[in-house]
Amino acid sequence: MSFSYEWARQELLEERAKLMAQLESLDSVEYENIGYRNHIADDATEAFEQTVGVALKRKVEATLEEVEQALVRLDNGTYGLCEACGARIDRARLEALPYVRYCLECQSRKEKAGARTTP
Ligand SMILES: [Zn+2]
Repeated sequence: MSFSYEWARQELLEERAKLMAQLESLDSVEYENIGYRNHIADDATEAFEQTVGVALKRKVEATLEEVEQALVRLDNGTYGLCEACGARIDRARLEALPYVRYCLECQSRKEKAGARTTP
């Protein structure tokens, strides 16, 4: 299927639904765990699982935010433009990742900058 704004909107809406379902299932895992709190031997495993769960949830929430922002950009007509330099983002790049915010050049520049500041 060739790239179009309609295609992108469809992809983003599907991605959003998927992420929301993922968040819901992550939430329900937390609720299920409450019933098992008195198994002391499992505490370490449980704590580990919760940490992984929280990290995963943050990642899903962050991606969901990206998807929402991309949908806003579709509505206001700035979709497909790099947020940093305003250049038109490669279609192939948008097809691979419809909620991408930066062109390849700015992304790699940011990743390099991030690598220096990340602890
Ligand atoms: Zn750029």
